[in-house]
Amino acid sequence: MSHSSHLLDVQQLKTYFYLFDGVARAVDDVSFYLDRGEVLGVVGESGCGKSVTAQSIMRLIPDPPGRILSGRITFDGLDLVQLSMEQMRGIRGKRIAMIFQEPMTSLNPVFTVGDQVAEMFRLHEHCSRHESLERAVEMLARVQVPAPEKRVHEYPHQLSGGMRQRVMIAMALACQPQILIADEPTTALDVTVQAQILDLMTRLKHEIDTAIMMITHDLGVIAEMARRVVVMYAGKVVEEADTASIFNHPRHPYTRGLLKSMPRIGDRAEKKRRRLSEIQGMVPGLLALPEGCRFHPRCPDAMAVCRRQLPALELLEPHHKVRCWLYLSA
Ligand code: SF4
Repeated sequence: MSHSSHLLDVQQLKTYFYLFDGVARAVDDVSFYLDRGEVLGVVGESGCGKSVTAQSIMRLIPDPPGRILSGRITFDGLDLVQLSMEQMRGIRGKRIAMIFQEPMTSLNPVFTVGDQVAEMFRLHEHCSRHESLERAVEMLARVQVPAPEKRVHEYPHQLSGGMRQRVMIAMALACQPQILIADEPTTALDVTVQAQILDLMTRLKHEIDTAIMMITHDLGVIAEMARRVVVMYAGKVVEEADTASIFNHPRHPYTRGLLKSMPRIGDRAEKKRRRLSEIQGMVPGLLALPEGCRFHPRCPDAMAVCRRQLPALELLEPHHKVRCWLYLSA
């Protein structure tokens, strides 16, 4: 039994992949927490370790080639890293649920959506077939799927992308989990549907009091939903603060770059659009991480020390941590 005042407490997590060409340090000494009922944003470009962090929490890392090397993931007094797969099955889906970017990859094309939502009630709450289907209809109504009595009999390919994501949310929230991990849940949707899904998640969060870990590369989603933000880069946390501080006083050059690349209201014409390539270069490959600060090849403020030594994640002011030599002495 581990003790933490937080609902979820990730401490010094390392998840590596042992590949033919070398070791990919996808999550490298990552710590953060999530409190009851809060929305935490985890932000960064693709390849920064956000999704591998989520898969580690769910114990969904394919082993081999992946492995949780060290660290603790404390959830409600349990260290998830130490649980057997059997024990994890009792938690996954019921107490910690997850939704993904593309519902088609998580929904089974050969079963009706009603069957798939009902399965959650059969599996985790041992409801009868009839009762679980009735509850599936209720759940689809709750996520605002129109005509749910009819839709339960339809297959995933008969629904739009937005409707499929609603079905995924219905499945994820069916058992009223304490934590919902949402991995880029709106990225594949158009802007209007995206706003509807975020509104729906906010409403359900209040109804069910689920804490949400919102993984995204989109700071607009963070502004809309999150109370606190963890910024990840190349397997490391580089900044952590409340959402207002991240937007009003970003400290890490990577966070500043992400904010500059956000489209602004009024940037309608294509030529006025702010380039997403505002941050020069690419996230480094995990098999070839640079020495020192992992952001230094892209950083406009890089100094000599940045190329030699990795800065520690330090508390700059209450609740605001940054990993950058601009704020530390070597
Ligand atoms: Fe840039 Fe140096 Fe800070 Fe890294 S440590 S973000 S290279 S200034």
